[in-house]
Amino acid sequence: MSHNEFFNGMFLENGNADGGRIEVICGSMFSGKTEELIRRLRRAKFARQSVEIFKPAVDVRYSAVDVVSHDDNSIPSTPVESAQNILLLASNVQVVGIDEAQFFDNGLIDVCNQLANSGVRVIVAGLDMDYQGNPFGPMPKLMAIADDVLKVHAVCVRCGALAQFSHRLAKTDKLVLLGETDSYEPLCRSCFLKMKTEDKNGN
Ligand code: ZN
Repeated sequence: MSHNEFFNGMFLENGNADGGRIEVICGSMFSGKTEELIRRLRRAKFARQSVEIFKPAVDVRYSAVDVVSHDDNSIPSTPVESAQNILLLASNVQVVGIDEAQFFDNGLIDVCNQLANSGVRVIVAGLDMDYQGNPFGPMPKLMAIADDVLKVHAVCVRCGALAQFSHRLAKTDKLVLLGETDSYEPLCRSCFLKMKTEDKNGN
């Protein structure tokens, strides 16, 4: 039996495929993605559904146990090394939240489909673009297979327009500086293009 057959069997045993769906919340840094994820999960908790958040183990900004929220009604959060681990750990969860999804491997696409097909409501939040404005990790494919996609926006710190780009202030070749949200600023398209030109010219 392959891994996939094993996992398929495990979830189809649950029988009920009703309510299974994939929701994606995407946007730039400071756009409120995690807040929207927590808002939806909290409402599911009010409805007495079992809820859990998974995040990539590389994201060390928050505590290992709980996703940080603005009151004591936080949602249990589990760091996982790979997308496949979510299947193992989510067997009794009705609503699965996945935060910082852009850092997961492409296996996350199949994992989300398997969960949704077995009746789980999957809510995914992540950066849709990296600091260069390119699609980030598994996010574009997750947006393609989702039942519902919400793009949230930050506010451009240069002009006040809606912002969808995460401009990196620190000069480094690393794709993302973990734990250093101060190193980014949200920008609109025209301000982002201006800054990119300035960065290229070494200003
Ligand atoms: Zn702007």
